[in-house]
Amino acid sequence: MTENVLPRDGASAWERVARRVEGQSWPAGALFVVATPIGNLGDLTLRAWQALDCADVIAAEDTRATRNLLEAWGIATPMMSAHRHNENSAAAAIVERLRAGERVALVSDAGTPAVSDPGARIVQAVRDAGFAVVPLPGPSAVVTALMAVGVTTDASPGFAFAGFAPTKSGARQRWMRQWMTVPGALVFYETPHRIRESLADLLAVAGPSRQVSLARELTKRFEEVATISLAQGPAWVDADPHREQGEYVVVLHPLAPVDDDAQAEDGGAGLDAWLDALLEHVSVRDAARIAARATGLSRDSIYARALARKPGASG
Ligand code: SAM
Repeated sequence: MTENVLPRDGASAWERVARRVEGQSWPAGALFVVATPIGNLGDLTLRAWQALDCADVIAAEDTRATRNLLEAWGIATPMMSAHRHNENSAAAAIVERLRAGERVALVSDAGTPAVSDPGARIVQAVRDAGFAVVPLPGPSAVVTALMAVGVTTDASPGFAFAGFAPTKSGARQRWMRQWMTVPGALVFYETPHRIRESLADLLAVAGPSRQVSLARELTKRFEEVATISLAQGPAWVDADPHREQGEYVVVLHPLAPVDDDAQAEDGGAGLDAWLDALLEHVSVRDAARIAARATGLSRDSIYARALARKPGASG
């Protein structure tokens, strides 16, 4: 960002709002669950900054990673470690601090604690011990990806967030099939060195014409959000060696609505009834072929629809 795009009275507006935020209550003996940037340092909210600054201690998943954020924002609050492998003992230590009237801020490496990150056990333990938990919303890779993809509309807002995909192909395909039965978009996290295999598994499970969006390096310098069909997956990864690096959110689009007028009138229920009857006797592939021939609809879209109605099938 260059200097001339900063708001003209940016600094004084920041100070004005900071004073109003400071005026709100920061109760003692409370746990503040604080979202932090997923790449861009500027995405820390003002309230998050104040909570981290006024806390007696920050419970951090990785104290070294959080130190960079604190240094950038001029925060000198001491830290304690609260990660996956010590979450229970960290929870007990945090409850003791709250009992002593301290304010504790909880952060993960990046984004929202307890979303594919540790934190939930600490939150539960604090609630069970009768202390307040105050969430401070902010960046999360799931929601940031949905903001850039535009697949969740007012009329069709549903999506399923599935966390990280399993690492082995067999387990990953089983896992994907299980999620295929949930209506709406499917959102999951994937590591860059498995993105190619994961796209190949999605292709096997959801069919070649299904749309997928790949949101890479969100809020960072090389941010990229691409929407392609699953058939285009391998070529898309090959087109740029950087695509096997960085961080990914994968958004599998929901099945396209059936484009036939009659089907549209009954929301596709007629076609689904057909498919259910066919699937009692023939494979998904054959059901799609027969239904496509009988209805004149595209075989690819019917194939994906049939797969979603028969969890566990592979074709
Ligand atoms: N709690 C975090 C959140 O709310 O965003 C998620 C933590 S999870 C351990 C880390 C995964 O989130 C990464 O492997 C990647 O799949 C996704 N992720 C995090 N930051 C990202 C970014 N800037 N761009 C794309 N994906 C990101």
